[in-house]
Amino acid sequence: MTRRISILGATGSIGQSTIDLIRRNRDAYDVVALTGGRNVPQLAKDAIELGADIAVTADEGSLQDLKDALAGSSVQAAAGRSALIEAARRPTDWTMSAIVGAAGLEPGMVALEQGGTLALANKESLVTAGSLLLETGNAHGAKILPVDSEHSAIFQALVGEEIDAVERVIITASGGAFRDWPLEQIAKATPEQAATHPNWDMGQRITIDSASMFNKAMEVIEANEFFRLSPDSIEVLVHPQSLVHALVGFYDGALMAHVGPPDMRHAIGYALHWPRRAPLPVERLDLAKIGQLNFREPEAARYPALGLAKIVMNEGGLAGAIFNGAKELALDAFIARQIGFLDMARLVEMVLDRLVSREGLNKDVMSLDTVHHADQIARRAGQEIISQGMLS
Ligand code: NDP
Ligand code: MG
Repeated sequence: MTRRISILGATGSIGQSTIDLIRRNRDAYDVVALTGGRNVPQLAKDAIELGADIAVTADEGSLQDLKDALAGSSVQAAAGRSALIEAARRPTDWTMSAIVGAAGLEPGMVALEQGGTLALANKESLVTAGSLLLETGNAHGAKILPVDSEHSAIFQALVGEEIDAVERVIITASGGAFRDWPLEQIAKATPEQAATHPNWDMGQRITIDSASMFNKAMEVIEANEFFRLSPDSIEVLVHPQSLVHALVGFYDGALMAHVGPPDMRHAIGYALHWPRRAPLPVERLDLAKIGQLNFREPEAARYPALGLAKIVMNEGGLAGAIFNGAKELALDAFIARQIGFLDMARLVEMVLDRLVSREGLNKDVMSLDTVHHADQIARRAGQEIISQGMLS
């Protein structure tokens, strides 16, 4: 029997890895929707090859280009935010949520409302609205499977275990592009330097977030939300080889480690075939050749973002949406060379200070509207801090 699938964010790094796996077993899937942003040629090419029902670009102005690129095929073309949401609402058995940023939350939510399985790469959904997402999944009998490699690793280490037996989880971090740079030099780092990852090949934004450890801070919050662990039981270790993705420590002292090559097709493939395993085209590790696996504590001065994750988890409520909104704004400003690399964490901290304890905000009911509102006021506050020169 074929499975109906959709890929939200099909033109990105995760989307393309997902398509790679689908392509290898084409007859097993009925592709419902592929969505993309500005990369219309890629979107059209994949939609035609996979015989999708509909291809949607989030970019309203690209509709004619998409129509032209799909001319002569049976793939329907659509553009804009509401078309994207409509496409995400089409029932599937499995949907990949791989849009980058807070823009991925609502499409993932409407997909969950149709039941089926949501493979969740978009970590911002859990950071900004974890409880809302999980409740929506429960209410509609939908399953959410983690795709972020560390969370997939934890999920796999938990198979057959009881969550109450977990004492701690350890999430590993490569340390990013600047793990061995002197701090003074990091302050002057350019977006190009930050966008080179030592081990993983990923989208530009998450690669820069890896250098600043905002990515790891997001992943700590993500683990806290998804697995319902206490903030103090989630640890981060720098592991330069990126082969051990995460470890789960149980109360009998056992540590279960997930070891594998840095290739997202493993975590994507695990979510695609869950609850079974299927052969996947990933490298087999030769541990004798690798010889050593190293671990060290992350230095607080080098990675201030990690401390901010603790604040967010302890505050709860809409603090995650504020944190993420401020982080996205800070990242945009860094990419646009308006602020320096280390200013990103300072800016997010200032926005959190200003907004998190604001009366009413944390007590708001979590809904798409309140999450969106928190995201917007965080971006506005961040913009204000930059334009008033308060960072220097
Ligand atoms: P990319 O930047 O490579 O791709 C992002 C995708 O989202 C593209 O399809 C892009 O379209 C689309 N997109 C961008 N902006 C919008 C928007 N406003 N509305 C709708 N679609 C949009 O990102 P990644 O694949 O690296 O990451 C995707 C998600 O997965 C992120 O949340 C990331 O944190 C997470 N993740 C990624 C990992 C990785 O290895 N890359 C690992 C773990 C998690 P287009 O390119 O056509 O403009
Ligand atoms: Mg990850």
